[in-house]
Amino acid sequence: MAEEVLYERLTPVDFESRVEAAPIAYLPLGTLEWHGPHLPLGSDFLQSQGFFIQLAGRVGGVVLPPLFLGPDSMQAVDGAEYYGMDLYSKVPDSPRQLKGSAYWVSDRLFSEMVEAVLKQLRRAGFKIVVAHGHGPSTRHFVKNGGKLGEKHDLVVMTVWRSGEEKESSTEFQNDHAAANETSIMMALHPSQVHMEYLPKDEKVWPLAIIGEDPRKHASPTHGQRIIDIHLDRMESILREHLNKLKRE
Ligand SMILES: [Zn+2]
Repeated sequence: MAEEVLYERLTPVDFESRVEAAPIAYLPLGTLEWHGPHLPLGSDFLQSQGFFIQLAGRVGGVVLPPLFLGPDSMQAVDGAEYYGMDLYSKVPDSPRQLKGSAYWVSDRLFSEMVEAVLKQLRRAGFKIVVAHGHGPSTRHFVKNGGKLGEKHDLVVMTVWRSGEEKESSTEFQNDHAAANETSIMMALHPSQVHMEYLPKDEKVWPLAIIGEDPRKHASPTHGQRIIDIHLDRMESILREHLNKLKRE
């Protein structure tokens, strides 16, 4: 049986021994958000959580429960609020409220939530935090990771490289419900991907997805390739940090 890596399932003794061996916390960043007609609403955190469970199995550390609230663009029109993909100009009748989305918080509130989470994690004994998932939430960590790390005495990072290879089809979670995210979901959670819900006519673009057409370019093999590249890469980055901590 695989070792338990989910925070909420660990007893205090098991928690302590995992944190002692590798003081890494993995934070899957939500949302509950429209991800095309074919993917579940929790796709953002299902991908990062699935990836983190495998990474923790290799390197050690503990996977946190997902944060399902996150920031995004917001516009108030006639008393109604529209977020992120609701505002995407290629959505017919945009802005319009896409079904199932429930996640939005202001940048300010998100920043306060992140501060609170980091403070608690440092207090619990962690020294490294890897956060990843929903684009705007992940970008908050990319932008503020250094500053937050210094403030909380933590190493804070995401799974993204530092800006290079931005458009690469093998970056982890770099589109919206298109070939990249669909492939990752196919590899991690195959029973939760419903390609049959996408329009059969390939000239009809699926509602509110951005990136390469998943009907033509998504596959479990591509998803597994993305996952393997980042597992190897993150494993070596984290091992380096762990060795450095041991030397200190
Ligand atoms: Zn997503």
